Amino acid sequence: MGPIICTKDKVDATEIVLNSYEYEEGIPLRNVPAFKCPVCEEFIFTEAQIDEMERKTDMIKAEMLAFERKVTLTMRLDKVGHLVRAGR
Ligand SMILES: [Zn+2]
Repeated sequence: MGPIICTKDKVDATEIVLNSYEYEEGIPLRNVPAFKCPVCEEFIFTEAQIDEMERKTDMIKAEMLAFERKVTLTMRLDKVGHLVRAGR
């Protein structure tokens, strides 16, 4: 893979690792590899890096969804419990 170049400044970007980066708002990813332009300090991502961020974001979203389902199920069971008690 050739050097990553900032299209704006025409300089080589430096490879860095971001402690935390939100590819999608509200879903922070840890230790994200990226490139940073030394001139404008903007982050530049390669296609492979974007694919990896998408994969990780999807994994976190799936986990969040599974958790939400569990909470909904618990709430429903609770409601059923009340109905049973009210029916007595
Ligand atoms: Zn730049």
